[in-house]
Amino acid sequence: MTTDRWSGGCLCGAIRYEIDPANIRSWYCHCRMCQKWTGSVVAPSVLVPRANFCLTRGDVRYFRSSAIAERGFCASCGSPLLFAPFGQDWLCVQTGTLDDPELAPPTGHFGIEGHVSWLPIDDSLKKVRTEDDPWIREMTGGTGKGRG
Ligand SMILES: [Zn+2]
Ligand SMILES: [Zn+2]
Repeated sequence: MTTDRWSGGCLCGAIRYEIDPANIRSWYCHCRMCQKWTGSVVAPSVLVPRANFCLTRGDVRYFRSSAIAERGFCASCGSPLLFAPFGQDWLCVQTGTLDDPELAPPTGHFGIEGHVSWLPIDDSLKKVRTEDDPWIREMTGGTGKGRG
């Protein structure tokens, strides 16, 4: 069990957070929703048990992006920070908002259907389509639609 906590925050510094990195998982997300949300074509994030995440400064504003989740951001500078599904004991923190993103190398590619051809992937990590993810299928009644 680790005692080293990770810290991070938004671009302007109004929001700061800490993570206990026990039981985290790190992924690239290529899905269209994360692309629109972040303005980037790939959006790495870290899945964190909610009990392991705490805000240490400021308040997160939320946008309800679908029937199953909301996305948290800084109302002052607009930094995307959190993907927060309703009724779940985990959330995802945008890896780029960590003070040291080197700490969280991704272990797979999610939302691979949105991957743009001009961004090469030269690793052999697992690739998952959004609609094939077991949790997404469960939350959307087996359709995989209306996710995120
Ligand atoms: Zn900010
Ligand atoms: Zn995504």
